[in-house]
Amino acid sequence: MARWDEILSLPVQSPPTLEFSAADIVWSRVEGWREMIDKLALIPFSRVNDFVRGESNNKDCPTRFHVEARRRRPPEQAHKIKVDGILEYILYWCSFGPDDHRKGGVVRPSRHYGAKRKTHAGRPNTKRGCVCHFIVKRLIAEPSVALIIYNQDKHVDKKGLPCHGPQDEKAAGTYAMFAPYISDELRLQIMSLLYVGVPVETIMQRHTEAVEKQGGPSNRDDLLTHRHVRRLERKIRRSTYELDSVDDISINMWVENHQDCVFFYKDFSELEPFVLGLQTDWQLQQMIQFGNNSLLASDSKFGTNKLKVC
Ligand SMILES: [Zn+2]
Repeated sequence: MARWDEILSLPVQSPPTLEFSAADIVWSRVEGWREMIDKLALIPFSRVNDFVRGESNNKDCPTRFHVEARRRRPPEQAHKIKVDGILEYILYWCSFGPDDHRKGGVVRPSRHYGAKRKTHAGRPNTKRGCVCHFIVKRLIAEPSVALIIYNQDKHVDKKGLPCHGPQDEKAAGTYAMFAPYISDELRLQIMSLLYVGVPVETIMQRHTEAVEKQGGPSNRDDLLTHRHVRRLERKIRRSTYELDSVDDISINMWVENHQDCVFFYKDFSELEPFVLGLQTDWQLQQMIQFGNNSLLASDSKFGTNKLKVC
């Protein structure tokens, strides 16, 4: 059977969990792929992010995967329908690579940021030469399907040695032991606390106490720093909410730009004031997790007593 016929006849796998990893799917090795035979699998294209999240939350070696390269076929380009035609190509790479900022490591010439700046703006120096990466291809023949090609599934450097995570002895006690960034969940939780006015010091104090209580750091989130929380606080402080001197224009503009956290909006009318319902993604997740049969109790209100809330 020709290689592409073989690939297209593979089952499209969609595990029922919210996110899934390479361990949850059956991989095929299709012959004739260069000298090396890569691991392949088909998943729905709409679930690529679920797979990327699952791969990042790898228990043995937590990390993040970032888009290292992406190519899209321009829509106007006249195309002959070829069986192996590609609409989109995305290369995901472990965020501990591909460059190596460790002593004696190799950094690609294009990624040198000059001697003055030790790290790129606001990002810790996390690159440790990890070669783990996979490719996602969206085929013209099956646009709803993503072909995942795992070229290198081990978190090792060019020498083949573990370069981050619990297997890497040199990573012990550093961020490289865990994932390169704090989780989205913790970031959203901190943002929500900052939004309602909880000071940076209080957030850090509570965090430090919680980590001490559990007997020291056990994941990336436990290594949260003042610097990180202050950066998030600065981001909120610098965001402008008064976008126009006329209130209703200003509100309209704000709503336009914050669609992701607006769940209800009713503009001013002749008789009534405006109504704006906001919910951050973190609050939504909490509601899904802790809500009980669509029932939700709230024990704090911010000066809503004087307002007529229906
Ligand atoms: Zn890695």
